[in-house]
Amino acid sequence: MMKLQKNFNGANKHYSRDASHYKGNALDVVHPKSIEELRKIVKTTNYLVGRGGGSGLSGGAVPLAGRDTVINLLQFNKINNFDKERKTVEVGCGVILEGLQDYLNFRGFEFPVNPFSRKIATIGGMIATNAVSSRVGKYGRMAQWIKWIDVMDCQGAISRKGVTEISDYSGMEGTTGIIVRACLKVVSKIKRSATIVPITNLIEMIEIVENLKRDKTVSMIDFCDEIISEGIGLEKKYHLFIEYENDLGLLKGPEYGEFLKTLDTIYSFVLGNGCIAIEDPKIMLSKLVHVTKWFREKNVLVFGHLSAGVLYVCFKEEQFSEIPVLRKLIKRLGGMITFSHGIGVLKRDFVEFNDKKILENVKKRTDPLNKFNVGKML
Ligand SMILES: Cc1cc2nc3c(=O)[nH]c(=O)nc-3n(C[C@H](O)[C@H](O)[C@H](O)COP(=O)(O)OP(=O)(O)OC[C@H]3O[C@@H](n4cnc5c(N)ncnc54)[C@H](O)[C@@H]3O)c2cc1C
Repeated sequence: MMKLQKNFNGANKHYSRDASHYKGNALDVVHPKSIEELRKIVKTTNYLVGRGGGSGLSGGAVPLAGRDTVINLLQFNKINNFDKERKTVEVGCGVILEGLQDYLNFRGFEFPVNPFSRKIATIGGMIATNAVSSRVGKYGRMAQWIKWIDVMDCQGAISRKGVTEISDYSGMEGTTGIIVRACLKVVSKIKRSATIVPITNLIEMIEIVENLKRDKTVSMIDFCDEIISEGIGLEKKYHLFIEYENDLGLLKGPEYGEFLKTLDTIYSFVLGNGCIAIEDPKIMLSKLVHVTKWFREKNVLVFGHLSAGVLYVCFKEEQFSEIPVLRKLIKRLGGMITFSHGIGVLKRDFVEFNDKKILENVKKRTDPLNKFNVGKML
């Protein structure tokens, strides 16, 4: 009876969604403040969903059908043991990325994976989804920046996982254990500049991108379509956003600061424009012209990280029937249907048979009691 009442508790409503449109219903929401409290919950509760900032876009942190207990991990928020010489820092899973960046910037350092969601996303969530950012071409994914993680298993025991075991947790979207703490590699703060290039011809844009990809000083090659460009105050054309780790870019100092702010307005523009589902396929650049024809035909907005061929394709509710069509098109073109937002609930049915087998084996080995995020990914 007690549990049932919690279903209707307004405070728990907040935990019934992440940043995707998918809605669930929590049996309970718990807010552990210590490892001991977390251990007690894990040992005594069956269906558990770890939640960081709730900025996920695939329903990964959403509790399913009144069955799941959500563990709010935001109170594991300590940053310590910063080591200037080794360039490492230890971080609780509930630390918000922007807080970590402030901590590091103050000491002359930064964390190179810096997603658009940095004001909300936690380190635990970023590790679980193996997040990327606009600098993916140069700095890769989250997992590459981890020295070790401490993980709580389904029996409440904590063990330290080094580089060879990271893939059992990073990218497994909380299905294999709760990541409680991590030691991350950091880099010295870099002085950057940038250039925004308007594009009229997509084939030319691909040529520019291929050349930029060979330049080691280029840390970002993002783009957006004409509609988004106009919405964020640029000319109604495609635009490339190029960032340099030297002063080669035209926008330096405060103008470079404005460049970063402009990039940050892309997400708010697409959300404000009624797009409530954002797909994240990865394709070969040579296929961009082909998929762009489809985007124009279907009237969907698109932006992304061209350094890695990652596209963010934005759908309004009335366009949802086109989402499976896009996924099939991406598969036909040899691309990946999800690169950065994860599988969660929303893309579960699109996991290939062989990938499913691999995920199932990792799940059985790491979570034999089947407690964590049951019904996600698989
Ligand atoms: C405006 C906006 C911009 C975005 N930009 C980007 C981007 O540039 N790049 C990118 O990669 N993503 C982006 N995302 C998606 C999202 O921010 C990332 O997936 C992020 O890593 C999720 O972090 P979180 O703390 O919010 O995780 P949550 O949404 O809370 O959880 C995500 C998944 O991780 C699991 N999880 C969370 N914490 C833990 C833990 N400690 N241990 C085990 N499992 C855990 C959850 O169960 C869930 O499956 C964006 C989202 C929004 C809304």
